[in-house]
Amino acid sequence: MKLKLLAALLALAATPLAAQQRSVAPSVRPKLVVVISVDQFSADLFAEYRGLYTGGLRRLSQGVVFPAGYQSHAATETCPGHSTILTGDRPGRTGIIANNWVDQSAARADKSIYCSEDERVAGSSSEHYTVSDLHLRVPTLGDLMQRADPRSRVVAVAGKDRAAVMMGGHNPTQRWYWAGRAFVSDRAGAREPGPVTQANNRIATALTRPREAMALPDACESRDRAIPIAGSATGVGTGRFARGENERSAFRASPDFDREILTVAEGMRDEMRLGEGASTDLLIIGLSATDYVGHTFGTRGTEMCIQMLALDRILGDFFRDLDQENVDYVVVLTADHGGIDLPERSAETGAPTAARSDPALNATAMGQALGRRLRLQGPVLFGDGPFGDMWIDRALAPRVRARVLAEAVRAYRAHPQVQTVFTRAELAAAPLPSGPPETWSLIQRARASFDPERSGDFYVVLKPRITPIADGSRGYVATHGSIWDYDRRVPILFWRRGLTGFEQPLSVETVDIMPSLAGLIGLPLAPGSVDGRCLDLLVGPATSCPN
Ligand code: ZN
Repeated sequence: MKLKLLAALLALAATPLAAQQRSVAPSVRPKLVVVISVDQFSADLFAEYRGLYTGGLRRLSQGVVFPAGYQSHAATETCPGHSTILTGDRPGRTGIIANNWVDQSAARADKSIYCSEDERVAGSSSEHYTVSDLHLRVPTLGDLMQRADPRSRVVAVAGKDRAAVMMGGHNPTQRWYWAGRAFVSDRAGAREPGPVTQANNRIATALTRPREAMALPDACESRDRAIPIAGSATGVGTGRFARGENERSAFRASPDFDREILTVAEGMRDEMRLGEGASTDLLIIGLSATDYVGHTFGTRGTEMCIQMLALDRILGDFFRDLDQENVDYVVVLTADHGGIDLPERSAETGAPTAARSDPALNATAMGQALGRRLRLQGPVLFGDGPFGDMWIDRALAPRVRARVLAEAVRAYRAHPQVQTVFTRAELAAAPLPSGPPETWSLIQRARASFDPERSGDFYVVLKPRITPIADGSRGYVATHGSIWDYDRRVPILFWRRGLTGFEQPLSVETVDIMPSLAGLIGLPLAPGSVDGRCLDLLVGPATSCPN
């Protein structure tokens, strides 16, 4: 008997792994849903590197591929973007209209509100805040899964608190995110899991030592060219992630960061045996390094090339670990927004209109200019840079505010770098968008991230290819956040063992992900309860969208 068992085990061990994992009939619900958001992973990056992937991103590229996914709204920032992925709702409904907005009625001195904070905490500011899901107005997939079956576990691990909060929802079982020096949790009394402690110790030790430059893969050689930036002694683009002792921000902007996030996620999957229980579990992962790499080095240099190939490799390792644990999982990978390269490199590679914004467009500078012209005291305008939502100082009398609005709109519209300006009244009156997102007018895009309570008095849209960082020599060189498609388009990739792959080039939205996953796991959604629609992931007459 014992010998027979041993023989059977030996035979099993000799069978190739792929054969051990039987294809799962599509009618069988997956036990684990893995949701991965790669911050700033634009559809353009996916297209540029797709032919070079050999690991995890290659696997996903052979699944159900929507290369034209849209974060369809105007405010293409991290917090709004992450708020769409697992709620099925656009920011106009999630309430997450930006990373930061201005609330002049806030009780504290700092009127800027960070999207995933609780500003009511005494002594807090938008920089030194208490992490909270207070501002997310709708439930997430995990919230609804737990409502339907309290045994479902929801675990979120991310490089940014706002990614973990917006995707993890109101009551995750575990939520861990990087807080500058360590992975921490906002969940009261959360015991630090072993994988978190191990990662924190490992990172602390690694940071005490300098890190050598990473090897340059052959495929990245053509990108190995320093780009000069006005006012910068070194320009950007040849460091290959070399860093000195305790350079935490350099660690964050490197593939090492994503590897640690995935190691924590995989460790927590193991420790909690996610996907092995009675009900479906949800593992949410926010990989943040691509965004920091994009901001620090641009999207088309050696660093992004190394990052893309490393991401592919570490995702491959992660999926292989899951395979070996024999968990039946479905994975979806997408991004919170796209991005555009630094204008200096764009301008010398076939995009001559790419430029940095005029510092006069910044809300502070514009407010001062208006104040001088209209002889007003105080800041006059509040805003977060040269575009997006702008607020008029509530300390001014209503009649004066109306005059400031008219003058500010006129001044912005007259500027050659400004495409258009929408007032709050225009946005409130605009119909909600519908139809394919690439056909939406600009006001419809802005309407999709308009919230009557939180949005500004007017919304400034810069012309395409204007980077809203006036000075590229003092930190970030490139960014996102615009109404234009390079910031809106992201890939949406689904994969499950046994699921027949297909590629659908027509556009879909990130708000479609949540109802699609709900359909796949048999979670009913009330009609009209989300902005997105279920995408049928099954080829042929069978459907994963029963509702
Ligand atoms: Zn982001």
